Amino acid sequence: MPLLINIGMLASCRPEGLQGDIHPIRNAALAWQGARIVWLGPESELPESFRGEPRVDAKGRLVIPGLIDAHTHLAFGGWRAHDFVGRIQGETYLEIAGRGGGIHHTVDMTRRLSEEELFLRARGFLQQMVDLGVSTVECKSGYGLVPEEEMKLLRVYRRLQEEQPARVVPTLLAHMVPEEYRGRRQDYVDLWCTDLIPAVAEAGLAEFCDIFVEETAFTVAEARAILEAARANGLGVKVHADQFGDRSGAALAAEFGAVSAEHLEFAREEGIRALAAAGTVAVSLPLASLYLRQPPLQARRFIECGVPVAVATDFNPGSAPSWHLPLAMTLACLLQQMTPGEVLKATTIQAARAVGRQAEIGSLEPGKLADFAVIDAPDVDHWLYHFRPNSCIGTYINGTQATS
Ligand SMILES: [Zn+2]
Repeated sequence: MPLLINIGMLASCRPEGLQGDIHPIRNAALAWQGARIVWLGPESELPESFRGEPRVDAKGRLVIPGLIDAHTHLAFGGWRAHDFVGRIQGETYLEIAGRGGGIHHTVDMTRRLSEEELFLRARGFLQQMVDLGVSTVECKSGYGLVPEEEMKLLRVYRRLQEEQPARVVPTLLAHMVPEEYRGRRQDYVDLWCTDLIPAVAEAGLAEFCDIFVEETAFTVAEARAILEAARANGLGVKVHADQFGDRSGAALAAEFGAVSAEHLEFAREEGIRALAAAGTVAVSLPLASLYLRQPPLQARRFIECGVPVAVATDFNPGSAPSWHLPLAMTLACLLQQMTPGEVLKATTIQAARAVGRQAEIGSLEPGKLADFAVIDAPDVDHWLYHFRPNSCIGTYINGTQATS
Protein backbone atom coordinates (compact mmCIF):
# COMPACT_ATOMS: atom_id res chain seq x y z
CA MET A 1 0.00 0.00 0.00
CA PRO A 2 1.91 3.10 -1.20
CA LEU A 3 1.96 6.25 0.92
CA LEU A 4 2.55 9.86 -0.02
CA ILE A 5 3.87 11.71 3.02
CA ASN A 6 5.06 15.21 3.89
CA ILE A 7 2.32 16.89 1.84
CA GLY A 8 2.37 20.65 2.59
CA MET A 9 -1.26 21.07 1.57
CA LEU A 10 -3.65 18.36 0.43
CA ALA A 11 -6.67 19.98 -1.25
CA SER A 12 -9.30 17.26 -0.96
CA CYS A 13 -11.99 19.20 -2.91
CA ARG A 14 -14.83 17.25 -1.33
CA PRO A 15 -18.17 18.15 -2.95
CA GLU A 16 -19.90 19.73 0.03
CA GLY A 17 -19.81 23.44 0.78
CA LEU A 18 -19.34 26.41 -1.50
CA GLN A 19 -17.50 26.59 -4.81
CA GLY A 20 -14.42 27.86 -2.97
CA ASP A 21 -14.37 25.21 -0.22
CA ILE A 22 -11.46 22.97 -1.19
CA HIS A 23 -11.28 21.36 2.28
CA PRO A 24 -7.48 21.55 2.63
CA ILE A 25 -5.45 19.45 5.05
CA ARG A 26 -2.02 20.77 6.12
CA ASN A 27 0.97 18.47 6.74
CA ALA A 28 -0.97 15.60 5.29
CA ALA A 29 -0.45 12.02 4.13
CA LEU A 30 -2.32 9.96 1.54
CA ALA A 31 -2.52 6.15 1.29
CA TRP A 32 -3.89 4.06 -1.54
CA GLN A 33 -4.27 0.39 -2.38
CA GLY A 34 -4.32 -0.57 -6.04
CA ALA A 35 -6.49 1.96 -7.83
CA ARG A 36 -8.31 3.35 -4.77
CA ILE A 37 -7.67 5.76 -1.93
CA VAL A 38 -7.63 4.08 1.47
CA TRP A 39 -6.83 6.90 3.87
CA LEU A 40 -5.93 10.58 4.01
CA GLY A 41 -5.50 13.06 6.82
CA PRO A 42 -2.92 14.88 8.93
CA GLU A 43 0.31 12.86 8.86
CA SER A 44 0.41 12.96 12.66
CA GLU A 45 -2.74 10.82 12.63
CA LEU A 46 -1.41 8.22 10.18
CA PRO A 47 -2.59 4.81 11.47
CA GLU A 48 0.19 2.79 13.10
CA SER A 49 -0.44 -0.12 10.73
CA PHE A 50 0.58 2.02 7.70
CA ARG A 51 3.95 3.01 9.08
CA GLY A 52 5.98 0.26 7.43
CA GLU A 53 4.50 0.81 3.94
CA PRO A 54 6.55 2.13 0.98
CA ARG A 55 6.43 5.89 0.92
CA VAL A 56 7.07 8.81 -1.38
CA ASP A 57 8.09 12.17 0.12
CA ALA A 58 6.09 15.10 -1.31
CA LYS A 59 8.63 17.50 0.25
CA GLY A 60 6.01 19.92 1.51
CA ARG A 61 4.35 20.36 -1.87
CA LEU A 62 0.69 20.72 -2.85
CA VAL A 63 -1.37 17.62 -3.70
CA ILE A 64 -4.63 17.99 -5.62
CA PRO A 65 -7.17 15.62 -7.18
CA GLY A 66 -6.19 14.76 -10.78
CA LEU A 67 -7.39 17.64 -12.92
CA ILE A 68 -10.40 17.03 -15.17
CA ASP A 69 -10.59 18.87 -18.49
CA ALA A 70 -14.36 18.71 -19.00
CA HIS A 71 -14.44 20.19 -22.51
CA THR A 72 -12.04 19.48 -25.38
CA HIS A 73 -12.16 18.76 -29.09
CA LEU A 74 -9.05 16.57 -28.84
CA ALA A 75 -8.94 14.76 -32.19
CA PHE A 76 -8.67 16.96 -35.27
CA GLY A 77 -6.53 17.50 -38.35
CA GLY A 78 -4.49 20.62 -39.17
CA TRP A 79 -4.28 23.91 -37.32
CA ARG A 80 -5.71 27.38 -38.03
CA ALA A 81 -3.01 29.98 -37.56
CA HIS A 82 -4.52 31.92 -40.51
CA ASP A 83 -7.76 32.39 -38.53
CA PHE A 84 -5.72 33.59 -35.55
CA VAL A 85 -4.11 36.30 -37.69
CA GLY A 86 -7.48 37.18 -39.26
CA ARG A 87 -9.04 37.68 -35.85
CA ILE A 88 -6.17 39.91 -34.73
CA GLN A 89 -6.80 41.98 -37.85
CA GLY A 90 -10.46 42.39 -36.95
CA GLU A 91 -12.36 39.46 -38.48
CA THR A 92 -14.98 37.90 -36.19
CA TYR A 93 -15.41 34.18 -35.57
CA LEU A 94 -18.68 34.25 -37.49
CA GLU A 95 -17.10 36.14 -40.45
CA ILE A 96 -14.27 33.61 -40.60
CA ALA A 97 -16.78 30.74 -40.58
CA GLY A 98 -18.82 32.55 -43.26
CA ARG A 99 -15.88 32.65 -45.73
CA GLY A 100 -15.16 28.94 -45.43
CA GLY A 101 -12.47 29.19 -42.76
CA GLY A 102 -13.01 28.13 -39.21
CA ILE A 103 -14.68 24.79 -38.63
CA HIS A 104 -14.99 24.10 -42.39
CA HIS A 105 -11.22 24.04 -42.70
CA THR A 106 -10.78 21.74 -39.71
CA VAL A 107 -13.46 19.37 -41.02
CA ASP A 108 -11.58 19.16 -44.31
CA MET A 109 -8.22 18.53 -42.61
CA THR A 110 -9.74 15.99 -40.19
CA ARG A 111 -11.38 13.96 -42.92
CA ARG A 112 -8.02 13.70 -44.71
CA LEU A 113 -6.41 11.92 -41.76
CA SER A 114 -6.73 8.19 -41.20
CA GLU A 115 -7.99 6.82 -37.91
CA GLU A 116 -4.41 5.80 -37.06
CA GLU A 117 -3.05 9.30 -37.80
CA LEU A 118 -5.74 10.94 -35.68
CA PHE A 119 -5.06 8.49 -32.86
CA LEU A 120 -1.31 9.15 -32.80
CA ARG A 121 -1.81 12.91 -32.87
CA ALA A 122 -4.44 12.89 -30.11
CA ARG A 123 -2.35 10.53 -27.96
CA GLY A 124 0.54 12.99 -28.16
CA PHE A 125 -1.69 15.86 -27.02
CA LEU A 126 -3.11 13.74 -24.22
CA GLN A 127 0.27 12.78 -22.78
CA GLN A 128 1.23 16.45 -22.57
CA MET A 129 -2.01 17.16 -20.71
CA VAL A 130 -1.25 14.35 -18.25
CA ASP A 131 2.19 15.87 -17.65
CA LEU A 132 0.43 19.06 -16.47
CA GLY A 133 -1.61 17.20 -13.81
CA VAL A 134 -4.65 16.21 -15.89
CA SER A 135 -6.06 12.71 -15.37
CA THR A 136 -9.43 12.87 -17.16
CA VAL A 137 -10.32 14.49 -20.48
CA GLU A 138 -13.72 14.87 -22.08
CA CYS A 139 -13.32 14.55 -25.85
CA LYS A 140 -15.85 15.68 -28.42
CA SER A 141 -16.34 14.54 -31.98
CA GLY A 142 -17.79 17.15 -34.34
CA TYR A 143 -15.11 17.57 -37.02
CA GLY A 144 -16.37 14.70 -39.15
CA LEU A 145 -20.00 15.82 -39.49
CA VAL A 146 -21.12 12.93 -41.74
CA PRO A 147 -21.85 9.72 -39.82
CA GLU A 148 -18.85 7.62 -40.93
CA GLU A 149 -16.43 10.45 -40.07
CA GLU A 150 -18.05 11.12 -36.70
CA MET A 151 -17.78 7.41 -35.88
CA LYS A 152 -14.11 7.52 -36.89
CA LEU A 153 -13.41 10.23 -34.30
CA LEU A 154 -15.31 8.36 -31.60
CA ARG A 155 -13.35 5.18 -32.35
CA VAL A 156 -10.14 7.19 -31.85
CA TYR A 157 -11.40 8.15 -28.38
CA ARG A 158 -12.29 4.55 -27.58
CA ARG A 159 -8.79 3.44 -28.53
CA LEU A 160 -7.25 6.21 -26.42
CA GLN A 161 -9.28 4.97 -23.46
CA GLU A 162 -8.00 1.45 -24.04
CA GLU A 163 -4.34 2.16 -24.74
CA GLN A 164 -3.17 5.05 -22.56
CA PRO A 165 -3.63 5.88 -18.89
CA ALA A 166 -5.73 9.08 -18.92
CA ARG A 167 -9.48 8.64 -18.53
CA VAL A 168 -11.32 9.65 -21.70
CA VAL A 169 -14.99 10.65 -21.66
CA PRO A 170 -16.34 10.55 -25.24
CA THR A 171 -19.04 12.96 -26.44
CA LEU A 172 -20.85 12.99 -29.77
CA LEU A 173 -21.03 16.67 -30.83
CA ALA A 174 -23.47 18.08 -33.38
CA HIS A 175 -21.24 20.94 -34.51
CA MET A 176 -22.78 22.30 -37.73
CA VAL A 177 -24.63 21.29 -40.90
CA PRO A 178 -22.04 20.02 -43.42
CA GLU A 179 -21.64 21.21 -47.03
CA GLU A 180 -23.14 17.91 -48.22
CA TYR A 181 -26.45 18.95 -46.62
CA ARG A 182 -26.53 22.59 -47.74
CA GLY A 183 -30.21 23.47 -48.28
CA ARG A 184 -31.27 20.17 -46.67
CA ARG A 185 -30.96 20.98 -42.98
CA GLN A 186 -33.95 18.93 -41.95
CA ASP A 187 -32.52 15.85 -43.70
CA TYR A 188 -29.33 16.26 -41.67
CA VAL A 189 -31.20 16.61 -38.38
CA ASP A 190 -33.25 13.53 -39.28
CA LEU A 191 -30.06 11.61 -40.10
CA TRP A 192 -28.76 12.31 -36.61
CA CYS A 193 -31.99 11.35 -34.93
CA THR A 194 -32.71 8.15 -36.82
CA ASP A 195 -29.25 6.87 -37.83
CA LEU A 196 -26.19 8.37 -36.17
CA ILE A 197 -27.35 8.69 -32.55
CA PRO A 198 -28.80 5.15 -32.39
CA ALA A 199 -25.66 3.73 -34.05
CA VAL A 200 -23.31 5.54 -31.64
CA ALA A 201 -25.38 4.51 -28.61
CA GLU A 202 -25.59 0.91 -29.76
CA ALA A 203 -21.80 0.70 -30.25
CA GLY A 204 -21.22 2.36 -26.85
CA LEU A 205 -19.00 4.97 -28.53
CA ALA A 206 -20.22 8.02 -26.58
CA GLU A 207 -21.54 8.81 -23.10
CA PHE A 208 -22.91 12.23 -23.98
CA CYS A 209 -24.44 14.11 -26.88
CA ASP A 210 -23.61 17.82 -27.16
CA ILE A 211 -24.97 20.37 -29.62
CA PHE A 212 -23.77 23.77 -30.79
CA VAL A 213 -26.78 26.11 -30.57
CA GLU A 214 -25.61 29.14 -32.56
CA GLU A 215 -26.38 31.21 -35.63
CA THR A 216 -23.92 29.20 -37.77
CA ALA A 217 -24.87 25.86 -36.25
CA PHE A 218 -28.28 24.68 -34.98
CA THR A 219 -31.51 26.39 -33.94
CA VAL A 220 -33.17 25.67 -30.62
CA ALA A 221 -35.87 23.65 -32.42
CA GLU A 222 -33.26 21.52 -34.23
CA ALA A 223 -31.33 21.07 -31.00
CA ARG A 224 -34.45 19.94 -29.22
CA ALA A 225 -35.03 17.18 -31.80
CA ILE A 226 -31.43 15.96 -31.57
CA LEU A 227 -31.33 16.07 -27.78
CA GLU A 228 -34.61 14.19 -27.56
CA ALA A 229 -33.15 11.44 -29.74
CA ALA A 230 -29.99 11.41 -27.59
CA ARG A 231 -32.01 11.04 -24.41
CA ALA A 232 -34.21 8.33 -25.92
CA ASN A 233 -31.04 6.39 -26.80
CA GLY A 234 -29.62 6.67 -23.30
CA LEU A 235 -26.98 9.35 -23.91
CA GLY A 236 -26.42 12.16 -21.40
CA VAL A 237 -26.94 15.71 -22.64
CA LYS A 238 -24.63 18.73 -22.94
CA VAL A 239 -25.22 22.04 -24.76
CA HIS A 240 -22.76 24.58 -26.30
CA ALA A 241 -24.87 27.60 -25.38
CA ASP A 242 -25.01 31.38 -25.68
CA GLN A 243 -21.40 31.84 -26.83
CA PHE A 244 -22.02 34.68 -29.29
CA GLY A 245 -25.41 35.93 -28.10
CA ASP A 246 -28.29 34.87 -25.89
CA ARG A 247 -30.06 32.18 -27.93
CA SER A 248 -31.82 30.59 -24.95
CA GLY A 249 -29.22 27.82 -24.91
CA ALA A 250 -28.93 27.88 -21.12
CA ALA A 251 -32.69 27.46 -20.74
CA LEU A 252 -32.61 24.61 -23.27
CA ALA A 253 -29.84 22.86 -21.32
CA ALA A 254 -31.87 23.20 -18.13
CA GLU A 255 -35.02 21.95 -19.85
CA PHE A 256 -33.18 18.75 -20.81
CA GLY A 257 -31.56 18.31 -17.40
CA ALA A 258 -28.17 18.58 -19.11
CA VAL A 259 -25.15 17.63 -17.00
CA SER A 260 -23.45 20.74 -18.34
CA ALA A 261 -23.92 23.85 -20.43
CA GLU A 262 -20.77 25.20 -22.07
CA HIS A 263 -19.52 28.73 -22.89
CA LEU A 264 -22.51 30.81 -21.64
CA GLU A 265 -20.68 34.12 -22.12
CA PHE A 266 -23.96 35.78 -23.10
CA ALA A 267 -26.38 33.87 -20.85
CA ARG A 268 -28.89 36.13 -19.13
CA GLU A 269 -30.39 36.04 -15.65
CA GLU A 270 -33.30 33.82 -16.64
CA GLY A 271 -31.01 31.19 -18.17
CA ILE A 272 -28.65 31.26 -15.18
CA ARG A 273 -31.54 30.71 -12.76
CA ALA A 274 -32.82 27.81 -14.89
CA LEU A 275 -29.36 26.19 -14.76
CA ALA A 276 -29.29 26.57 -10.97
CA ALA A 277 -32.71 24.94 -10.63
CA ALA A 278 -31.70 22.05 -12.93
CA GLY A 279 -28.35 21.45 -11.16
CA THR A 280 -26.55 21.86 -14.50
CA VAL A 281 -22.82 22.67 -14.35
CA ALA A 282 -21.70 25.81 -16.23
CA VAL A 283 -18.47 24.97 -18.06
CA SER A 284 -16.47 28.17 -18.56
CA LEU A 285 -13.79 28.33 -21.24
CA PRO A 286 -11.55 31.35 -20.58
CA LEU A 287 -8.97 30.42 -23.24
CA ALA A 288 -11.70 30.66 -25.89
CA SER A 289 -12.83 34.04 -24.51
CA LEU A 290 -9.24 35.27 -24.64
CA TYR A 291 -8.48 34.02 -28.16
CA LEU A 292 -11.82 35.34 -29.49
CA ARG A 293 -11.26 38.61 -27.61
CA GLN A 294 -14.75 38.33 -26.17
CA PRO A 295 -16.08 39.05 -22.71
CA PRO A 296 -15.60 35.97 -20.48
CA LEU A 297 -18.31 34.12 -18.59
CA GLN A 298 -19.50 36.21 -15.64
CA ALA A 299 -18.62 33.60 -13.09
CA ARG A 300 -19.68 35.64 -10.06
CA ARG A 301 -23.28 35.80 -11.28
CA PHE A 302 -23.37 32.02 -11.75
CA ILE A 303 -21.75 31.29 -8.39
CA GLU A 304 -24.06 33.73 -6.58
CA CYS A 305 -27.08 32.01 -8.18
CA GLY A 306 -25.83 28.60 -6.99
CA VAL A 307 -24.71 27.23 -10.36
CA PRO A 308 -21.64 24.96 -10.05
CA VAL A 309 -18.92 26.38 -12.32
CA ALA A 310 -16.29 24.26 -14.08
CA VAL A 311 -13.25 25.55 -15.98
CA ALA A 312 -11.96 23.72 -19.07
CA THR A 313 -9.60 24.42 -21.98
CA ASP A 314 -11.99 23.95 -24.95
CA PHE A 315 -8.79 22.72 -26.67
CA ASN A 316 -9.47 22.99 -30.42
CA PRO A 317 -7.55 24.36 -33.43
CA GLY A 318 -9.65 27.51 -33.80
CA SER A 319 -10.78 29.33 -30.67
CA ALA A 320 -8.56 27.63 -28.06
CA PRO A 321 -5.39 26.13 -29.57
CA SER A 322 -3.89 25.14 -26.19
CA TRP A 323 -4.41 22.09 -23.98
CA HIS A 324 -2.89 23.92 -20.98
CA LEU A 325 -5.52 23.57 -18.24
CA PRO A 326 -3.42 25.33 -15.55
CA LEU A 327 -3.14 28.33 -17.91
CA ALA A 328 -6.95 28.29 -18.32
CA MET A 329 -7.16 28.17 -14.50
CA THR A 330 -5.00 31.25 -14.01
CA LEU A 331 -7.05 33.01 -16.71
CA ALA A 332 -10.26 32.04 -14.88
CA CYS A 333 -8.88 33.82 -11.80
CA LEU A 334 -7.97 36.93 -13.76
CA LEU A 335 -10.76 37.18 -16.35
CA GLN A 336 -13.65 35.58 -14.47
CA GLN A 337 -12.79 36.90 -11.00
CA MET A 338 -12.72 33.46 -9.44
CA THR A 339 -10.46 32.75 -6.46
CA PRO A 340 -7.79 30.05 -6.89
CA GLY A 341 -9.80 27.81 -4.56
CA GLU A 342 -12.95 28.27 -6.65
CA VAL A 343 -10.96 27.51 -9.79
CA LEU A 344 -9.43 24.34 -8.31
CA LYS A 345 -12.89 23.05 -7.44
CA ALA A 346 -13.94 24.04 -10.98
CA THR A 347 -11.37 21.64 -12.47
CA THR A 348 -11.89 18.80 -9.99
CA ILE A 349 -15.24 17.98 -8.37
CA GLN A 350 -17.37 20.41 -10.44
CA ALA A 351 -15.67 19.17 -13.61
CA ALA A 352 -16.34 15.59 -12.50
CA ARG A 353 -20.02 16.47 -12.24
CA ALA A 354 -19.87 17.99 -15.72
CA VAL A 355 -18.81 14.58 -17.08
CA GLY A 356 -21.03 12.50 -14.79
CA ARG A 357 -18.10 10.90 -12.91
CA GLN A 358 -18.40 12.56 -9.48
CA ALA A 359 -18.93 9.22 -7.72
CA GLU A 360 -15.47 8.00 -8.74
CA ILE A 361 -13.19 11.00 -9.30
CA GLY A 362 -12.88 14.76 -8.70
CA SER A 363 -12.07 14.71 -4.97
CA LEU A 364 -9.66 12.91 -2.68
CA GLU A 365 -11.71 10.71 -0.35
CA PRO A 366 -11.37 7.11 0.86
CA GLY A 367 -12.99 4.78 -1.67
CA LYS A 368 -12.52 7.07 -4.65
CA LEU A 369 -10.05 6.35 -7.43
CA ALA A 370 -6.45 7.36 -6.67
CA ASP A 371 -6.17 10.09 -9.32
CA PHE A 372 -4.02 12.91 -7.98
CA ALA A 373 -1.23 15.29 -8.92
CA VAL A 374 1.77 16.60 -6.98
CA ILE A 375 2.29 20.29 -7.66
CA ASP A 376 5.50 22.18 -6.95
CA ALA A 377 3.87 24.94 -4.90
CA PRO A 378 3.14 25.37 -1.20
CA ASP A 379 -0.58 25.93 -1.72
CA VAL A 380 -3.29 26.55 -4.33
CA ASP A 381 -3.09 30.35 -4.20
CA HIS A 382 0.64 30.32 -4.87
CA TRP A 383 0.34 27.75 -7.67
CA LEU A 384 -2.19 29.72 -9.75
CA TYR A 385 -0.54 33.06 -9.00
CA HIS A 386 2.99 32.06 -10.01
CA PHE A 387 2.26 30.78 -13.52
CA ARG A 388 4.97 28.50 -14.91
CA PRO A 389 5.14 26.30 -18.02
CA ASN A 390 4.61 23.24 -15.83
CA SER A 391 4.44 23.05 -12.03
CA CYS A 392 3.37 19.40 -11.95
CA ILE A 393 5.88 16.93 -10.49
CA GLY A 394 3.81 13.79 -11.01
CA THR A 395 0.32 12.71 -12.07
CA TYR A 396 -1.11 9.47 -10.69
CA ILE A 397 -4.04 7.77 -12.40
CA ASN A 398 -5.61 4.72 -10.74
CA GLY A 399 -2.77 4.91 -8.21
CA THR A 400 -0.03 4.65 -10.85
CA GLN A 401 2.41 7.33 -12.03
CA ALA A 402 1.30 8.37 -15.53
CA THR A 403 3.66 11.28 -16.17
CA SER A 404 6.07 10.83 -19.09
ZN1 LIG B 1 -16.06 23.63 -27.55
